[in-house]
Amino acid sequence: MLCALLSACSSTDQRLLSDAQIKTEQRYQDGLALREAHRLNSRLQDLSFPLLAVATDQCANRTTYKLGVQLHTAEDYPENQREAAREVFDKLDGIRVKHSAKGSSAREHLLNGDKIVQINGKKVPDSTVNTIRRLKQQLAKDPSLELTIERNNQLHSISLTAMEVCNYPVQLSQQDAINAFADGSSIIINAGLMRFAKEDSELSLIIAHELAHNVADHGMEKIKGGLIGGLFDLAISSGGGIVSPAIGVALGANLLSQSYEVEADKLAIRLMHQLEYPLQPLPEFWRRMATVHPSSIRHGQQASHPTTVERYLIMKQEVERLAQTD
Ligand SMILES: [Zn+2]
Repeated sequence: MLCALLSACSSTDQRLLSDAQIKTEQRYQDGLALREAHRLNSRLQDLSFPLLAVATDQCANRTTYKLGVQLHTAEDYPENQREAAREVFDKLDGIRVKHSAKGSSAREHLLNGDKIVQINGKKVPDSTVNTIRRLKQQLAKDPSLELTIERNNQLHSISLTAMEVCNYPVQLSQQDAINAFADGSSIIINAGLMRFAKEDSELSLIIAHELAHNVADHGMEKIKGGLIGGLFDLAISSGGGIVSPAIGVALGANLLSQSYEVEADKLAIRLMHQLEYPLQPLPEFWRRMATVHPSSIRHGQQASHPTTVERYLIMKQEVERLAQTD
């Protein structure tokens, strides 16, 4: 129906619109889209950072020191969106703080929009990529560093301490499908899933599930060998119904893949427990998934993922087991 809506406008209507009208409205809609992407990204980073920090014991030698801060400048945006970006983020000259994640020392000391002027007394590079590289180099030597920032036309000296976290960056994809992915080195969460997971605890559970695939090093060899196609994902590949796009599972790998999913669900629950989320409501997520993927309520053993019924019941058992050990 959306196609019909988008194409309903006739060319005679379009000819009545001036270039100026079009440009103004384009900039306005660019601004709306940038605000929404910023809102999703901020929520994602706020929920991810504590999980990446709490899971360091399980990540073995795959950890790193992170400040939990994201930076940006005007040149990071496509040229035709820069004007809108400057309006949305107020100022975008120089390297600016885009977001600081909850639980990080950056969140305590930095504000969005702060301009980074110096890192450990040296002038900041002029691109975001090079600034991030410089920060990484400094943090590899020492997790504490000094930033000189500009806020309201005044310079401030700020001491930050990076936190040890699992080195699996969490990225937002603009895809609408209610899905998320792990590829052994990062975690990708679709915008569609973020809108579906209205409660922060639900979204955290899914980030934790994907983190668990990476932490447990689930069949990454098999992914590389092509036995399990592409990536691990969250939803649902069924015998006859919707086949989840990323995971094409070779015959014989299905049961293995199903057992990985169960293991990732259980580890996710334990990570949520470590972060002291209330566990009781969490299994409900699988009932909600069943409403958007009814074909996953029952399917055969050729599926790569357990049914939503199995996932609900197994997760509930795990929640009860953890409640008893408290
Ligand atoms: Zn999974």
